[in-house]
Amino acid sequence: MNLENQVAIVTGAGRGIGRAICVKLAELGARVVVNYAGNAVEAERTRELCPGSIAVQADVSDESQCKRLFAECESHFGSAMLLINNAGITRDNLLMRMSVDDFDRVIAVNLRGAFNCVKLASRAMMKARYGRIVNISSVVGQSGNAGQANYAASKSGVIGLTKSAALELAPRGITVNAIAPGYIETDMTAGLSDEVKTAMMGAIPLGRFGSPSDVAELAAFLCSDLAAYITGQVIGVNGGMRM
Ligand code: NAP
Repeated sequence: MNLENQVAIVTGAGRGIGRAICVKLAELGARVVVNYAGNAVEAERTRELCPGSIAVQADVSDESQCKRLFAECESHFGSAMLLINNAGITRDNLLMRMSVDDFDRVIAVNLRGAFNCVKLASRAMMKARYGRIVNISSVVGQSGNAGQANYAASKSGVIGLTKSAALELAPRGITVNAIAPGYIETDMTAGLSDEVKTAMMGAIPLGRFGSPSDVAELAAFLCSDLAAYITGQVIGVNGGMRM
């Protein structure tokens, strides 16, 4: 795989899965825009790991901040033909206790954020008649999860967004796919109780939690020319947790 001369925007790339995706894309030769929300120290670390990259703070839920993100990419590298919508948050609670604010915020970051970036990226991609969009969904967007109605709804929404965008953009040679990770060891899952972790481990046939690089390998493949005939797909990286 070779991504030389490619420009990639990776959202939510300061830590975790986003960082691993940036490192992999940079390893393959891409110039990377490392987007993050607020943790500049971690984003700087990602930037250091990716030669030639830049870090740009922007809240993806906010359209005007996304416009600034894309403008900074344009002025440093030119238009991005690779977009990885990875930014995501959780605000877990049982349905009866979930506030409207917690529901709305998770949808705004995870789903509207992806929509904002797909919309902005597709303009230049359509002109170039080329592009690769990878949206990070989740296994819970496929199966649901108690205590995560907001998060699961946002991740199911990402699947609908992926398939609709794939249909609209296919005539211009742009592919749009979703990755649905299972349990991946990052800050997002670090806070789960040992009880929950043990229960989840029991549901994973491969007998281990995933690593950010397990997801990054697939993201890089979907960005490459090897994946030119794959679009509108939802691909699990979950150790067999859901088949
Ligand atoms: P993480 O370690 O918590 O990192 C989340 C990243 O998203 C951070 O870089 C954070 O920026 C950024 N972010 C949060 N809100 C943002 C916003 N409004 N605008 C821009 N960036 C924002 O999460 P992760 O585990 O790597 O998860 C990455 C993606 O994979 C998410 O979409 C998540 O839902 C999905 N996923 C994760 C798992 C898992 O088991 N970990 C499983 C399935 C799916 P700061 O560093 O600045 O805070």
